[in-house]
Amino acid sequence: MEQRLLGALEAGGTKMACATGYANGTVIECTEIPTTEPAETAAAIVDWFSDKGAAALGIGAFGPTAVDPASPRFGQILETPKTAWRYFNLLGSIAGPLGIPCGYDTDVNAACLGEASFGCAKGLSSAVYLTIGTGVGAGVMVNGQLLHGMLHPEAGHVLVCRDPRDTIGEHSGCPYHDNCLEGLIAGPGVKKRWGGKRASELAGDPEAMDLLAGYLAQALVTYTLCYSPKKIIVGGGVADHTPIVPLARKKAADLLNGYLVTPELDDIDSYIVNNSLDGKQGVMGCLELARRALEA
Ligand code: ZN
Repeated sequence: MEQRLLGALEAGGTKMACATGYANGTVIECTEIPTTEPAETAAAIVDWFSDKGAAALGIGAFGPTAVDPASPRFGQILETPKTAWRYFNLLGSIAGPLGIPCGYDTDVNAACLGEASFGCAKGLSSAVYLTIGTGVGAGVMVNGQLLHGMLHPEAGHVLVCRDPRDTIGEHSGCPYHDNCLEGLIAGPGVKKRWGGKRASELAGDPEAMDLLAGYLAQALVTYTLCYSPKKIIVGGGVADHTPIVPLARKKAADLLNGYLVTPELDDIDSYIVNNSLDGKQGVMGCLELARRALEA
């Protein structure tokens, strides 16, 4: 079969990763465009793709965003703290001018799809992909379908129990919740607690890592119990540049306390893992979204 060039757009709150590639996940060309004003950013994206000749585009967008094609807001960014982007029609402003089929989902669902199509979750029908960076987000695949529901999972904001050792103060790094995972372990919460430091600067601090891994473990247990995934993959800067994933793995096993007995949990080192695609899981998942849009 002829290989058709596909486009991928990983639309983030600070940068837009644009790429071309093929349905087998090969990335041919890529660039990054800073996320500024919506119209200006969308125009720069359209400009980059306009002479590439991609047959379809897959977009993985920062959320919350409307991913249900039946929704009147399909393709719009929703109630984001980035107010200029609120209700901006990201999909329409790019798909319209390019005039090619476009697949659209959340950035984390796209990354989950990337790992399930090309990475460590290949062949698995159910998986959770968690990213921990400036925020926390989760993509969820259940029975081969990316989970949407009424909106899409926002499992980065699951509530966790405060560790009594935590010095972060009453309010966490999340403006909505004092005790959610994102507020306690993402970049802003880390900076608030440790005098402006980044998680990567604290990677050698056993107490700091123990605290963060404890919160992550609580969330991993929740995902395990609620989504019953066959694998949980953790990416993002905080996870990539610290040992919190292996630390949280052991704590999650302790918290589960033998309640679930499955072959996957028997091999927990292969069950809770770091991302396997070297940070490209989002872009590669967008290529798969593009392939699906072309076939639809
Ligand atoms: Zn929150």
